[in-house]
Amino acid sequence: MADMKIPRHAMPSQEASVRARNFDEVALGYTAEIAQAEAARCLGCKNPPCVGGCPVNVNIPGFIKKIAEGDFEGAYGVISETSSLPAVCGRVCPQETQCEAKCVRGIKSEPVAIGRLERFAADTHRAAKKEGTGTPAAPVPEKNGHKVAVVGSGPAGLTCAGDLSRLGYDVTVFEALHTAGGVLVYGIPEFRLPKAIVAEEIDGLRDAGVEIECDTVVGRTLSVDELFDDGYEAVFIGTGAGLPRFMGIPGENLNGVFSANEFLTRINLMKAYLDETDTPVMRPKRVAVVGGGNVAMDAARCALRLGADEVSIVYRRSEAELPARAEEVEHAKEEGIVFRLLTNPVKIIGDDKMFVSGIECVKMELGEPDASGRRRPVTVPGSEFTIDCDCVIMAIGTSPNPLIRSTTPGLDCENWGGIKADGAGATSRPGVFAGGDAVTGAATVILAMGAGKTAAEAIDEYIRNK
Ligand code: FAD
Ligand code: SF4
Repeated sequence: MADMKIPRHAMPSQEASVRARNFDEVALGYTAEIAQAEAARCLGCKNPPCVGGCPVNVNIPGFIKKIAEGDFEGAYGVISETSSLPAVCGRVCPQETQCEAKCVRGIKSEPVAIGRLERFAADTHRAAKKEGTGTPAAPVPEKNGHKVAVVGSGPAGLTCAGDLSRLGYDVTVFEALHTAGGVLVYGIPEFRLPKAIVAEEIDGLRDAGVEIECDTVVGRTLSVDELFDDGYEAVFIGTGAGLPRFMGIPGENLNGVFSANEFLTRINLMKAYLDETDTPVMRPKRVAVVGGGNVAMDAARCALRLGADEVSIVYRRSEAELPARAEEVEHAKEEGIVFRLLTNPVKIIGDDKMFVSGIECVKMELGEPDASGRRRPVTVPGSEFTIDCDCVIMAIGTSPNPLIRSTTPGLDCENWGGIKADGAGATSRPGVFAGGDAVTGAATVILAMGAGKTAAEAIDEYIRNK
């Protein structure tokens, strides 16, 4: 019986003042000893609610039991029955609103650290694989003679491609950028998700027979219709939601205003933080990041690591409504990011050379709940004030890029740009499936993976019944 008095084990991390100036991973991972002690906190519930809280239903008590027993490869095996990117999910899933929110131990004390244990199992497996002692990968299945195209190499596309390849399909992933991985490589920074981990997961897919063609923009280089002409029997669209939104306030055209998308892509994908880079980015001194999600936290923490003296998060609701993962908010605070809550920008101010010199804001208070169920922020009259800054980064959301919908006749889309798809990912075009952020709008890695998985099953059924 688990000892109910043992508190949740903290994650060993780089010290805040040190990590605020480097791009190395913040959380260092559990040791085997800590992992086994944390795993021993699991009650092994008969009807485990945590499993229902996981969008892909990982057998959580099953893998935790294996860790407690010291069978780390066995733990990895249990997780990989349902999740194809455990090293990624263990690091970036919002566990506090998913599996850990349902954990029975969380009712009276703190939940079992499910995400940290998942990361531990995945990292231990990666290390064992490198040493040649890990469980060997399943053999590449014999091809079944059917070709499927996947557009976009984010978690939705990669999961769909991996699952179809395991069923024997000849799968080619077409990716617009020069590197595969979607937001995992161009959005989420190195200090939260080392790119070597994403690259290893992608190498695993290539070893399993998936072809990846980078620098190919579907809708420009070739169209969805041309993919069918080339003999692909089905197409999965997992193109994400990478089109940044701006507020529409005066001054957004000034020098020093970035979308978080551009700022993060320059840093993560183009490595603008390295001195020898060909594609540098502005190194601002005082930065205001508008928004309260993971994207805003990542942009703020990157700006700090580029050498900024002061970085503020400007968010119009209160701390309770911040959509970012709790751990990222905690880490950002520890690193010295200033949280200006219940604050809304109304104008960006520039100097005579058209460079940003400040951002004018108003104070907000929370009124009645709006359509989202969250209390609506209302302006406090006469509360205008200015934050001095030389850079403003907009992280207020993104929407799907219009390229695929404008070049694919018969593909029904929502007014806001999302591709319409049923629960299995089928769109209005026979043979065209879609999933992830391209369908839901900006969401999470695990939901995108879940959509890729469901669509792979539907594509298999579609091709077998054709
Ligand atoms: P994406 O990951 O966006 O991948 C889409 C891919 O399609 C991209 O590589 C793109 O280049 C490619 N593409 C687009 N158009 C074309 C085209 N026409 N032809 C070919 N290729 C194309 N989620 C979490 O769960 N936890 C987090 O901590 C978290 N942090 C985040 C931080 C940031 C900065 C961002 C931006 C997002 C974050 N998210 C997080 C959200 C999560 O990353 C996304 O929900 C997820 O990546 C969506 O996966 P996807 O496969 O649908 O799309
Ligand atoms: Fe273990 Fe918590 Fe899941 Fe129960 S709910 S099985 S204690 S992780």
